[in-house]
Amino acid sequence: MKCAEKVPCPCCNHQAYKVIGSRERKVKDERSIARTFIIRRLRCQQCTKIHHELPDLMIPYKRYGTEVIEETIFQTTHLTVAADESTIYRWRKWFSELIDYWLFILQSLRIQLEPNETSTDDLSSRLLPVHKRVGQWFGTACGWLGKIVHPVANHHFWIHTRSAFLSTYP
Ligand SMILES: [Zn+2]
Repeated sequence: MKCAEKVPCPCCNHQAYKVIGSRERKVKDERSIARTFIIRRLRCQQCTKIHHELPDLMIPYKRYGTEVIEETIFQTTHLTVAADESTIYRWRKWFSELIDYWLFILQSLRIQLEPNETSTDDLSSRLLPVHKRVGQWFGTACGWLGKIVHPVANHHFWIHTRSAFLSTYP
């Protein structure tokens, strides 16, 4: 797993890290088979903040891989995932509770990090239903969920409980 070096430090935008440790993390595939990955603890060499690399196939605090969860969000038939119905229900609920927060963060990051971006899309707009907004801005091809959640997590805006959600949402 060597993805962190490509991500500039969310705190200072510097691109060099020193590896200061690692930990194991298990991620389940669509057949519920767990694979172990090594996640490295990295220290930014400029601002000295510590980050954990987040491989694309992972979502923070989720035991299944990004693509497994992604498939269940909008698709209701022909699911290939071996997770049970209550797990899938919880993923959909998790997604629908957090998607507007993630889009709000992505819009804020875009204004902050890409001041020359000419697109007039407002990612925090809620005019269209969620699946339409997501499809229009992130596509429906494999990987769309990662495009939404990874910038949010990499910039340390990740929240994973309902109470945290309610207290930080603007
Ligand atoms: Zn830094």
